[in-house]
Amino acid sequence: MKVLVINCGSSSLKYQVLDMPSEQLICKGLVEKIGLKDSMLTHTKIGADEKFVLQSPMPDHTTAIGHVLDALLDPEHGVAKSLYEIGAVGHRILHGGDKFTASCLVDEKCKEAIRSCIPLGPLHNPANLMGIEACEKLMPGKPQVAVFDTAFHQTMPPEAFMYALPYEYYEKYAVRKYGFHGTSHRFVSAKAAEMLGKDIKDLKLISCHLGNGASLAAIKDGKCFDTSMGLTPLEGLVMGTRCGDIDPAAIPFIAEKEGMSFKEADTMMNKKSGILGVSGVSSDFRDVEAAANEGNARAQLALDMFVHRVKHYIGAYAAEMNGVDAIIFTAGLGENGKTTRAAICKDMDYLGIELDPERNDVRGKETVISSDASRVKVLLIPTNEELMIAMDTYDIVTK
Ligand code: ADP
Repeated sequence: MKVLVINCGSSSLKYQVLDMPSEQLICKGLVEKIGLKDSMLTHTKIGADEKFVLQSPMPDHTTAIGHVLDALLDPEHGVAKSLYEIGAVGHRILHGGDKFTASCLVDEKCKEAIRSCIPLGPLHNPANLMGIEACEKLMPGKPQVAVFDTAFHQTMPPEAFMYALPYEYYEKYAVRKYGFHGTSHRFVSAKAAEMLGKDIKDLKLISCHLGNGASLAAIKDGKCFDTSMGLTPLEGLVMGTRCGDIDPAAIPFIAEKEGMSFKEADTMMNKKSGILGVSGVSSDFRDVEAAANEGNARAQLALDMFVHRVKHYIGAYAAEMNGVDAIIFTAGLGENGKTTRAAICKDMDYLGIELDPERNDVRGKETVISSDASRVKVLLIPTNEELMIAMDTYDIVTK
C-alpha cells in the first residue's frame, strides 16, 4: 500500500510517499510560501535524476495539496497512475493535549479534539487541520490517520508533568508539561531495543533528539517517563533560537526594564535566544562551531551551555529512572555533530558512559558509538518521523 505522509506548517508543507509495509520511500517533496504569490513546489522521485519544480501561486493548503496530488500523478515525475493507488494519508499533528495517547483514524470527533487543542498549539494545529480538510475535499473517503507529537509522552506520571503553579490553572486551562518530538523519541527507542536485542520493556533509555529544536526523553519499560519540553516546545534544553529552562522571574524583570509586552517576550524567548542569542552568530550549530574554532568566546560559551544542559538532563533522567541502559543520539546535530556528542559524553564515567572516539567518528548511521567496556551503551540512530507516521497509518487502516 502506498501511504502519503503530510506535515503541514502554516506556510509550508512537507510530504513523502512510502510503500508499506516494505517501508520503501518512493518520493518526497516540499511546498513553500503557501499563501504568498511566489509559492513553490519541489518534488523528488527517488531514483530520478532531476527534481520537478513548480512555481505557481498557492493561496491556501487545498491548492497546495492539489498540486502535490497532481505531481504524484504526473506521467513523468509521478509515482501513481490514479489516486486509488494511495491507500491512506498520515498527518503529523503537533498538539494532542491530554486527549490522545496514540495515533488515531481521523473522524469528526478526532478533528474536534485537534481543534480544541488549538490554544495549546496556536501556530501548528490550525495548519494541521487545514491539511486534513484539504485531503477530505480532494480525496473524499480516503482513510486518514492523525499522529501526534505529544502522544508518546502521555504516559508521564503526574509528578513529572505537573507544574507547581496554583492547581486551578491545570484544571481551567490544562497548563502542564506535554512534551514534543514524541514520534521521533518513539521511533528511535524502538530501534534501540532492536539494536540491543532486548525487549523495550526491559530497558531504561534516554533519547536525545538534538536538532534546531531539541528535547530529551526518559523512556522506562517502553514508555515515556519524563521529557524536557513542556506546555510548549520552549522548555528544557538550550536550542537554536529558544532559551529553554530559565528562572521564570527573569522575564517580568526584563520586560519591565525594556517595556516589553508578553507577546514580545514570547518572541524573544522563542526566536532570539538560545545558541543564536548567546553567540550572536547564528542558530545553526555548524556556524557557531566554526566561529568558536576561530576564537569567538561567545560562540564557545553558547556551545558549552548547550552541552552543559544536555548533561544536566541525562543526569536527572538517570536518577529519575534509577539507572540507564542506553543513550540515543538523533536528529540533525545528534546524528552529525560528533564534537558535540563527544563533549556531552565527556566525564560521564561515573555513570558508566564511555564513548569510543573512533566509533564516534561517524555521521547519520545506525551504530553503537560507545566502547565495549562502556556499561551504558551509546547509540547513534537516525530518526525517521515520516516512516513512523507511515507505520502507524498502515497499522491503523489495515487493522
Ligand atoms: P529541525 O528539524 O529542528 O529543524 P534538524 O534535526 O534538521 O532540525 O537539525 C538541524 C541542526 O543540526 C542545525 O543546527 C545544524 O547545524 C545541525 N547539524 C546538521 N549537520 C551538522 C553537522 N555536520 N555538524 C554539526 N551540526 C550539524
